[in-house]
Amino acid sequence: MSILKELQSKLPENAMISEVKFEGSEIVLYTKSKEFFRNSDGPIRSIVKELKKRLEVRPDLTITMDMEKTKKKINDIVPEGAGIKEIYFEPELGKVIIEAQKPGVIIGRNGETFKMIKNETCWLPKIERAPAINSDVVRAVRKLLHSEIDYRKKFLNKVGMKINSDIKETDEEWVRIAMLGSGRQVGRSSLLVQTPHSQILLDAGVDPSSDKKPAIELPEFDAEKIDAIILSHAHTDHSGFIPYFYENGYTGPLYCTPPTRDLMALLCLDYIDVMQKEGHSPPYGKKAVEKTLKHSIALNYGEVSDIAPNIRLTFQSAGHLLGSSLIHLHIGEGLHNILYTSDINYVNSKLFEPAYTNFQRIETMIIESTYGGSQNTLPPRIQAEKDMINIIDKTVKNGGKVLIPSFAVGRAQEIMAILDAHNIKTPVYMEGMLWDATAIHTAYPEYLSHYLQKSIFRYGKNPFISEIFHRVAPKERNDLIDSADPCVIIATSGMLNGGPVIEYLKGLAPNPKNTLMFVGYNAEGTLGSRIQKGWRDLPVYNQKTGRNTTIEIKMNIETIHGLSGHAGRNHLVNFVRNLRNKPDKVLVNHGEPKRCIELARDLHKMFKVETNAPKNYEIIRLK
Ligand code: ZN
Repeated sequence: MSILKELQSKLPENAMISEVKFEGSEIVLYTKSKEFFRNSDGPIRSIVKELKKRLEVRPDLTITMDMEKTKKKINDIVPEGAGIKEIYFEPELGKVIIEAQKPGVIIGRNGETFKMIKNETCWLPKIERAPAINSDVVRAVRKLLHSEIDYRKKFLNKVGMKINSDIKETDEEWVRIAMLGSGRQVGRSSLLVQTPHSQILLDAGVDPSSDKKPAIELPEFDAEKIDAIILSHAHTDHSGFIPYFYENGYTGPLYCTPPTRDLMALLCLDYIDVMQKEGHSPPYGKKAVEKTLKHSIALNYGEVSDIAPNIRLTFQSAGHLLGSSLIHLHIGEGLHNILYTSDINYVNSKLFEPAYTNFQRIETMIIESTYGGSQNTLPPRIQAEKDMINIIDKTVKNGGKVLIPSFAVGRAQEIMAILDAHNIKTPVYMEGMLWDATAIHTAYPEYLSHYLQKSIFRYGKNPFISEIFHRVAPKERNDLIDSADPCVIIATSGMLNGGPVIEYLKGLAPNPKNTLMFVGYNAEGTLGSRIQKGWRDLPVYNQKTGRNTTIEIKMNIETIHGLSGHAGRNHLVNFVRNLRNKPDKVLVNHGEPKRCIELARDLHKMFKVETNAPKNYEIIRLK
């Protein structure tokens, strides 16, 4: 590997390097010199600049302090307020992991506490946040990654070798994109980016209204040739099919942000459960989700990472969901830049800032159009919040209950933050899934809006642990439905295509005092969408008779517009307008056919760019 030789020639003489390795897009150096380990920041910075590769210096085990002594030392150095939960080691990587409630305290004002730990123990500290609500998922994911450290070291090295391999000369450079899903539909989002040197899969989701999977039967699709899968966010219409590839022999990397990784695990495991409960056979088993996690490479917003010999990936915030990302691909040396927005929001919601727009270059943009139709302008958020609070007040005064169907992730936490901000006193009930998803939010507050970060970090007020929220077990459902007390129930799934919300709906539907309140998007063909269109017969499967009957829905039906996690037409246009650099070509996806077409038509008129609303199975040459 020529780059490793080049690197070694640039290192100072006292570096005493015992091992140099690729680890994903990073190059990792293990040193036997305490001196170099402590003072490598300066020399490394200049090498990074020259080589344009990320470097990390780690201690060779011959220089690290004894583990028990190290633990003691860390407890001595770190101020009490940090709330250290656990200290453990990854000797294979020369790291000491410190899990604490307040990581900021361990890092110190200018990183001085961090440096002190590093310098005194000669371990490389890695600091993780302990969630404010105990999260089984976060714990399980961290434990899995920790226990698989040997495998991961080898895996990351393999990925790194591939990324740094030489490119074969070709007669012509080209970039094209194949629509495997999300072409004029909401569901099974999946795009394949191809160049002569690499193939990258962007998202691989399932369709909430049918069993359809991404179009992997496309003649040229070959899972073995995929260099990397990139996941924009955890919703199953983007992530739900990814474990399938790992179950069927794919061993390449999956790139996503840390919260996306954890939420994806939660949602894919739930997807398997829901499928099984409904008597369908899921496309993969639970082991496949573990395998997926084992091959995940987490990147934070703004981190630039090589993912193939000719492709560089950067995530930026999309404003849609915890950890949700815009995916920016830089292909070749300035050959072509792709921005895949996936799902975006472009308002200041309670949870997130609007999507990032400050990209240096974009030639092709793929943009969603959930609310892309010319009539899909969304009202101001403040109004939507007020409407929601009014409906809850009215129902509660009437002695009724409010049922809010919601995705486990995203809407639910947004609603929680709004209810908390409006000082609602009515009890709010949620089942385990929603609770777990909320707990994951408390592990990654740095991915939340400035508003929430300020509330949590400065005032110590975390809306997710407010006492109005109660966890309810499935066996307590009937008691909750039968009780005379007004309350709010948030339950999955958001589009009424399965999940506990159906059980609550069956119980609450016959009473006109109750309210069913939609707060998010309902895809065509789902029960949610049918009810919004006026359907009032709720099909119910009777287990005793084995027959389907119907219940008439007499409860009040409300839809709140403007609380969506997706940008409205007005916001989509603003997003494009505010991009630092306009793309030459825009592909519109992730919307009903009419909405895709209307957004493509209008963006063309407004911004004088080439636009297209491709169908599934279409292949488009970008360069
Ligand atoms: Zn989404």
